[in-house]
Amino acid sequence: MHAQDGTPRAGEDYPVSWRQFLDRFGTEEACVAYLQGLRWPQGFVCPHCAARTAPYPCSRGRLVCRTCGFQATVTAGTVFDKTRTPLRVWLAACWYLVNQKHGASALGLQRALGLGSYQTAWTMLHRLRKAMAPPAPAPLQGVVEIGDFCLDAGRIALAVEVARPPGVGQVRLRRLAAPSMTAMASFILGNVAPGAALRSAHAEDCQALARLGYACEHAAPQGARQPAMPGMHRVAALVRRWEQHLPQGAVQPTLLDAHLREFSFRFNLRGADSVGLLFHRLLQQAMHTAPATYRDIVQCRPE
Ligand SMILES: [Zn+2]
Repeated sequence: MHAQDGTPRAGEDYPVSWRQFLDRFGTEEACVAYLQGLRWPQGFVCPHCAARTAPYPCSRGRLVCRTCGFQATVTAGTVFDKTRTPLRVWLAACWYLVNQKHGASALGLQRALGLGSYQTAWTMLHRLRKAMAPPAPAPLQGVVEIGDFCLDAGRIALAVEVARPPGVGQVRLRRLAAPSMTAMASFILGNVAPGAALRSAHAEDCQALARLGYACEHAAPQGARQPAMPGMHRVAALVRRWEQHLPQGAVQPTLLDAHLREFSFRFNLRGADSVGLLFHRLLQQAMHTAPATYRDIVQCRPE
């Protein structure tokens, strides 16, 4: 499905316009085939016995394993698990979402797709935002600025790769339940490669991270016009601006993580030449992300 180096190709692996989207995803079968290619890029693998033989196609999109007889579907065990919404609608929701530069709202999605209820639109967005976190994100490398900052909805941990020429590479963000060094250390351990060269505005953080085996340099303030950590400064400003665009009520702490996932997903793919690549990546991740649990949804559901 992909070019030989694994890079998805515009127009072939993903549509680059609404017109191409409509031409390509007019039927459930076309949507199933696309998702199958994303879930099993090397060919079908039985979720039950791991056999790699081509399955028997069966009614309602089911695939029957020739080895053990297990009936699989392309969506079982993914964020689309047990959905009653047609895949055509899911893919259209995905296209709509990646095209909303400042983030999508449930009301906007409900109107754009003519969905029966706000609750359906809200739950769909919730599932898609779950898939916006890569299932196995690569740890940040090289020089990495770390720190935390405040939003109206809570305190955020931020790690920013410093790219050459001076600029910003990939970012990682997470809501901090408490502004403690333990929470920060767990964020760093989960997101930054052990060999990275960290920079922090807090000397005590550097000492604590050194005990974890990280090289950490204390970045002293350079004056108001020249922030000590320009990458952090820039990304924190963008996240604050992003928060201003969110719909009222969206910034309650339990929902903030979902919005941070959406910000990071867009920011880390900002160099893409087409939103089609975001569409492709989101669905690829959705195929490798576990279903949202009942608890996930109930905890965050708006009143
Ligand atoms: Zn099997």
